[in-house]
Amino acid sequence: MDLSKLWLPFTQMQEWLSEEPLVIVEGEGATLTDSTGRRYIDGVASLWCNVHGHRHPRIDRAVGEQLARIAHTTLLGLVNEPAIELASRLAGIAPPGLAKVFYSDDGSTAVEVAVKMAYQYWQLKGEDRPLFLSFRNAYHGDTLGAVSLGGIEQFHERFKGLLRPALLAPSPYCYRCELGLELPGCAMACVQRFEELLARNASRVAAVALEPLVQAAGGIIVQPPGFVRRVYEATRRHGTLFIADEVAVGFGRTGVMFACEREGIRPDFLCLSKGLTGGYLPLAATLTTEEIYRAFLGEYAEYKHFFHGHTYTGNPLGCAAAIASLDVFREEGVLARLAPKIRLLGELLARCRILPSVGDVRQCGLIAGIELVRDRVTKEPFDPSLRVGHRVTLRARRRGLIIRPLGNVIVIFPPLCITEEQLTEMLETIYLSIQDVERDLGC
Ligand code: PMP
Repeated sequence: MDLSKLWLPFTQMQEWLSEEPLVIVEGEGATLTDSTGRRYIDGVASLWCNVHGHRHPRIDRAVGEQLARIAHTTLLGLVNEPAIELASRLAGIAPPGLAKVFYSDDGSTAVEVAVKMAYQYWQLKGEDRPLFLSFRNAYHGDTLGAVSLGGIEQFHERFKGLLRPALLAPSPYCYRCELGLELPGCAMACVQRFEELLARNASRVAAVALEPLVQAAGGIIVQPPGFVRRVYEATRRHGTLFIADEVAVGFGRTGVMFACEREGIRPDFLCLSKGLTGGYLPLAATLTTEEIYRAFLGEYAEYKHFFHGHTYTGNPLGCAAAIASLDVFREEGVLARLAPKIRLLGELLARCRILPSVGDVRQCGLIAGIELVRDRVTKEPFDPSLRVGHRVTLRARRRGLIIRPLGNVIVIFPPLCITEEQLTEMLETIYLSIQDVERDLGC
């Protein structure tokens, strides 16, 4: 196999080419099989998107049946049946008030759409609102509008010259609180800073963007109860819009269908992708309100309509997969069956806490992060050149588990269909792999 023509995302190719390549050829349920026939647990849910497992018969059938009719037709001026049905289904399960569905292709475009819609909405209302407000450690995608909301220095700083960066409020990263506080004071002090920042700029802020409950790519930073609600309420008081980016946390990951439900909020935009198709195909949806939608209505020559759209917007195969995935949620009682797995994950994580290099363990639903540190007392991080997270990943791979770290945070993000036995095996593997690396580094 000639690997030399490939360039992989978020990958130092020089290093990757020197390692043993892993070529996935098949999957079933929560497992993957490589080209040598080895099986692994898919502990990263194929980058946080697989929900009901690989080759789920219900979704396979739906995609196959759609393929037998048509694979793609445009949504620019036409529609297709799966896109119509999926829009109704999504509006039916989303937080109240989200009555309109705009499709795109991936998480970044779902956010890009929300950003541009919010910006144009205020223009159409006759207000100049050029600013967005987000949080440090936020990650909303890699296209430029989404990057402008980003708050992860390592990913976003380099592109600053290309952007109009958002106003950034402190991140509720209480393990390393930038305000120097501990839980529970830290998160609420962050909200207070956010409220002050919003109050100072309110009339110029088009929207506030937040990954509700978990800042995922920022290092699985879990927000305490009430955090999302306070951010949301401030947007209501100050009359600005709220973008809930549920690209990572949507579709059951936090134990409920959408994280917004947990805090009883009604965002102006809900960005969905990843788990939308059960993790089968690239599809995204930005849901918004009747109020936003109406502002874009008018005579053609007023040019009020939304000048944005992608070739594969509303792709019928993706929509068919998404409808089937929602059917599986209902037919298999997926959400109701999550509670014991979430509890088990909590118990298994407790065992990892005692390892000498484990500084912090964070969990929300079936998502968790284990932050590894050189010194638990001082919280001194490992030197990035040691690539501690990556080393744990490679050890885990030898033991039959695929995970991907975020720096020195070991990420646990399995498909919702993972069995309790597989979850136990996954955490045992992580425990042993961390121990291996501790031994290698003399911790
Ligand atoms: N928003 C969030 C919260 C995400 O976690 C991600 C991807 N990890 C994105 C947006 C971007 O999604 P995509 O990679 O599909 O463009």
